This record gives sequence, structure tokens and C-alpha cells, in this order.
Amino acid sequence: MQIIRTYKLRLKPTREQESQLRQTCAAVRAVYNAANEQRRLYGRPQGQDAHGRDSHFSKLNQSKDLSLRKLERDPDLAWLSIAQADSFIYALEDLDQAWRKFFDNLRQGVSCYPPRFRSAVQDNSFKMRAVSNAKGKQSKKGHFDGRRPNIIFNNRGVRLPKLGWISWLKHCRIRGDLRTAVVTCEGGFASGRWYICITSKIDIADPVPAGGAISIDLGAAIPIALSNGEVAKIPPPSNKTTKRIKRAQRAVSRSKRWSRRRKARAARLAALKHKETVRVHCKLHKVSRMLVNRFGTIAIEDLKVSNMTRSAMGTAEDPGRNAHSNAARNQEIFSIPKHAFRVYLEYKAAAAGGEVIAVNATHTSQTCAECGAVDKRSRQSQTQFVCVACGHRDNVSTNAATNILAKSGAVAGPRKTPSESRRGSATSSIGHEAPSCAAFSDELSPVEADDGSTTPDTSTAMSCG
Ligand SMILES: [Zn+2]
Repeated sequence: MQIIRTYKLRLKPTREQESQLRQTCAAVRAVYNAANEQRRLYGRPQGQDAHGRDSHFSKLNQSKDLSLRKLERDPDLAWLSIAQADSFIYALEDLDQAWRKFFDNLRQGVSCYPPRFRSAVQDNSFKMRAVSNAKGKQSKKGHFDGRRPNIIFNNRGVRLPKLGWISWLKHCRIRGDLRTAVVTCEGGFASGRWYICITSKIDIADPVPAGGAISIDLGAAIPIALSNGEVAKIPPPSNKTTKRIKRAQRAVSRSKRWSRRRKARAARLAALKHKETVRVHCKLHKVSRMLVNRFGTIAIEDLKVSNMTRSAMGTAEDPGRNAHSNAARNQEIFSIPKHAFRVYLEYKAAAAGGEVIAVNATHTSQTCAECGAVDKRSRQSQTQFVCVACGHRDNVSTNAATNILAKSGAVAGPRKTPSESRRGSATSSIGHEAPSCAAFSDELSPVEADDGSTTPDTSTAMSCG
């Protein structure tokens, strides 16, 4: 089986390299914005302009004008030649796609805005074609199948065209036939971290899906609860981090608008928040990897975050009830990126031969998993569920997860123990997410019932081989 895998690695550019990277981003952005402006002025990429002529503002026609030699001769545009020509073409491709999506939406009657302009604050990335020095591509004479490698890397760093060697934190083996590389800055422009995302086509052995099924309830009180009673721990930010972020927020709000100091403080705030985001996503990667290794079928609620949070404030005519506590809950709901978690599950499951089923989760938190009675009063608190019809007691999240599993139609058959999944997944392990039972034993823990006892079945499930 062939799959496309993306490796994301952190770059450690020097100060000069960083400014060079920024200039490259700026050049690509300038081309994107100029092309976008043309399209806004003259209409569709394929269609007629205001004078009834064919407008040729599509990637195909515009990329011809972007030859670097031409640009270098023009004193006004010479600065653009810091970037590679294919970065421009990828940017135009993105723009084409954005406009296509816009017109598709218009046709379907979905309200939407035309593609926006890229901003220096948040849109700092450029893409390039990647041909690597990976082994296996090299022929006997030392040629690379007619394609010269433009990206050369070793454990210390990566050599990018026009930029030279940039050191990186290499935490995984990069395999396969490289396709593209995207260099991007995340977490604020001034103090952000630089990353490179390399996509590569790799051959993997045909996966053998793990047996068994599990369902996940994504809630506010317990972020990730499984139907077998386990919960995934995603600890909230430490007090120290929370304090730091609050202090940074305060510092931003107290500095004068448009001042340099405010800019610097905003950058610091963005950096702190980015660090926190990285921590949460790292945990989600580990939890999703563990789930995919152990279970073949994963049922997940088809969650619409906007539905859960919409009612908090209401409008002036119709103010929301209990707005303060709802706002607090909304913060909790947003504390874990649920869509990202689902995406992680889906792509990992696809590579491991498993499947992810999205289930409409209406009333799953009010339904009794034992007798099926639906009653609001059964949910006694954020955590405790006591059925008013049959007296069944459970944790709210575990009960909801069981209902989701029943709705998905999947049968919770025999499942792999963590040690089995470790053996079985040797072929499908992803470099930087290599599954190890020891690493996950702290991710999952038995759910605490309200009376302090733990649910019985979990202790065996989590004993590591
Ligand atoms: Zn019941």
C-alpha cells in the first residue's frame, strides 16, 4: 500500500537565515496578493473581464510571467527572486483553488467571501517541490533518476535551495520518495517557530486491522472518555503556564496601541500560546496512536462545536441564560481541538486498516446505556449519571461513550491488549509517533467514579504486557 506521509520538523535557523526565510515568505506572499488583486479586479480566472475579453488570470497564464530571469531584470521586482520559481507557482495554485472553492460555494448558495489577502502577521509559509537524496532513488552512476535532488538532509540539518544548510531537530527517520516541502512560521511572526513539513510517498506493508471497537465521548468535564471506562488524560496547562499567559495578556493590554513595545509583548504572548498548543497536540497524537493500535473500529460523536457553544451570550434582545458559566464551559470545550483529534484518528486509522465512524450524538449524554431511557434528570452532575428508570450508575462520559458505540452499530469484540498492539503495529509505526506501551500508560487511566472507587474492568486493560 502506498501512502503520502507528512513529516513535520522544527527548524533552527540562525538570525541571518531567519531574515532570509522571512523575505522568501514575503516574496511569495506578494505574488499571491498581486495575483489575487488582479482576479478581484478582472473577475474569474476563466471568464471575461469588464471589457468582454478573456481574462487570463489563472495559474497557467500567470506562471509564465514569473520567470526569475525576467524578475531579476526589473529593478522593482528583483527582490522577489529571493524565492524559488516553484514557490510562486504553488502560491498561484493555492489561489486558483481558493477561487474555485469560492465559486463552488456561490453556485450552491453557501454564503462566503472571496479569497482574502495573505497577511504578514499570520501567513508566513512557502512551498517547494522536493527531490531528496533519499537512498533508493540513486542510480548506479550517482544520478537521481533524472531528477537532481534539491533537498539534501542529514541528522543535523537540511539544505534548502537558495537558503543553504539550516539546522533542524530531527526526531524521526524520513523515508520514501519526497514530493513537496513547506516551510512555515507558527506562533506569531516576530517570535514564532519555524517548521518544515515534508510530504513523502512511502510504501507500507498492507495493514492488518486491530480487532474490537471502541467509542469516544468528547466532553467538557472529561475531555476524552472511552466506552470501556478508560479516560485519556490531557492535563490542563500548569499553574505556572497559566500565570505566564495571563501576565503576558495583561502586559499587551496595558501597552500603548501601535507601539513597538506592544508588538514585542504580543509576540511573547503568541509564543507562549503556541507552546501550549504544541503540548496539547502532542498528547492528542499519542492518544490517537494508542487507540488506533488497539482498536480496529473507533466510533466518535459527530460533534458540531458551534452548536455546543452558540447559546452563551445571546443577543441584546434575547440575552443568553447563565452566560458566565456557559462562557466558562465554552472555554473548556475549546481547550481541546476536537476536529484535529478526529483528523488524527482518521488518518492514523486509514494507514492501519481501521475505520472511524462518526455518529450523531444527540441525547447520548441523557440516555441510559442499560435500559435506554432518555431523561434529562438522569444526568445528576457534570460527572455522575444515575438512571431515573432503572437506577444504573455510571460516569456521564463513559455512559455517553457506550451509547455512541451502540449507535455506531460496531460490536465491541475482542481487542488487542497494549502489548499485542505494540507487536502488531511494528509495520505501521510512524517515525516520531512510535507506539510504546510505557509511554501511553500515563495517557490512559481508569475513570474515577464519584464515590472514589474505580471502574473494575480497566485495571486489566491497562496492565502493560
Ligand atoms: Zn436505565
